[in-house]
Amino acid sequence: MKPLKKERTTAQKSFIFGYLKSVKTHPSAETVYKEVRKKLPNISQGTVYRVLNNFKEKGEIQAIDTKDNVHFDADISDHAHFICEKCGNVFDISDECSECGVLKNKKTKVGSINSYKVNFYGICRNCKKK
Ligand SMILES: [Zn+2]
Ligand SMILES: [Zn+2]
Repeated sequence: MKPLKKERTTAQKSFIFGYLKSVKTHPSAETVYKEVRKKLPNISQGTVYRVLNNFKEKGEIQAIDTKDNVHFDADISDHAHFICEKCGNVFDISDECSECGVLKNKKTKVGSINSYKVNFYGICRNCKKK
């Protein structure tokens, strides 16, 4: 029994969750670690990865797989993602997709939809400009 350690982990966990909730950038585990470390300099990379996986397994956050990384999102409401194949950034697509019949009515010929994960792959506006 090490109550102190547990307390610290709980504080770290809620800090990580709070950080994820506050951003819309879908950070990778490395980015979460870099950002969280600014405030919690003693946190280890292993802890950050473990906490993220834990949240993911409990369904409190979602993970989005891109070609070469995994990005995290604390927004677990139904929304689609656009993944840029060039810069690897992940963007939320909510408005445009809500117009789509299938997603709006949550019904298909096969059955009704409880939840969904949709990923669009392409080149984002920023990368197109280059
Ligand atoms: Zn891009
Ligand atoms: Zn998202």
